[in-house]
Amino acid sequence: DMTDRYAVIGNPVAHSKSPLIHAAFARQTGQKLVYERLEAPLDGFVDTAAQFLAMGGSGCNVTVPFKEEAFRFANLLSDRAELAGAVNTLWLDDEGVVGDNTDGAGLVADLLLHTTLAGKRILLLGAGGAARGVIAPLLDEEPASLCIANRSADKAVALAGHFAELGEVAGMGLAGLDGQSFDLVINATSASLAGASLPLPASLWQTGPVAYDMMYGTQETPFLAQARAAGVQQRLDGLGMLVAQAAEAFYLWRGLRPDTAPVLIELRAQL
Ligand code: NDP
Repeated sequence: DMTDRYAVIGNPVAHSKSPLIHAAFARQTGQKLVYERLEAPLDGFVDTAAQFLAMGGSGCNVTVPFKEEAFRFANLLSDRAELAGAVNTLWLDDEGVVGDNTDGAGLVADLLLHTTLAGKRILLLGAGGAARGVIAPLLDEEPASLCIANRSADKAVALAGHFAELGEVAGMGLAGLDGQSFDLVINATSASLAGASLPLPASLWQTGPVAYDMMYGTQETPFLAQARAAGVQQRLDGLGMLVAQAAEAFYLWRGLRPDTAPVLIELRAQL
């Protein structure tokens, strides 16, 4: 059987939407492929990925908590994966295992459906893996400035230093946001996962920024509820980013760009 095989590797992975998204892309573009979920043991990412590729797998996506391990596993890295220090897309080519990171491109593609980024003042909340992966792609859009603010200020300051050559970047603790305002506020913390809201100053919302939460779900996230209570009109969750990063991976593997809009509608209806 010559059907190309792909997978998403994570732990836990049971709730991953990636198989649904890639199946929809394959239907839409007439590509013959299968895409499965693979749960790797917490200490077994490399074995799971190596075995999948050795047994005929063409490529895989990597999700929590293995993106840094996938970065070390790859023999060749794209520039954006190198900058992110994390890999979410792997495939085999003649020279070995190639690693790329499509999360930032996914975020930017989704944002650009709703707003422009050039010349904008952007606030990125959080300094974990998700934040790190999107900084270079955001700076590529030439915003006026990018402020990274995190509960642990030192991590935000370190990230700002790491990316300083790419644009106007500052790093600070959340308290440093007092009195500041932005055109776009992106939540890349996992606070929403825990149902917690962030201690953000009222000044943040006064200019009516776009609010974007990388998290998504059936319920409004605490961050987007906070933005709504402050009168913010344009509030977006991370489901569009999820579909767009998958489309970017599909393009890397198959050379075709699927139309994300109908897949996002289908996925939203299934949440
Ligand atoms: P990490 O564990 O690497 O980082 C967590 C970040 O959240 C840190 O900056 C941490 O701050 C901060 N944080 C956690 N809890 C709180 C809190 N209660 N108050 C303030 N700050 C807090 O997680 P990731 O970066 O991997 O993931 C972050 C989010 O992004 C997740 O919700 C994930 O689901 C989402 N995501 C969505 C994607 C999509 O396609 N839509 C893709 C990738 C991620 P500190 O440093 O102080 O601990």
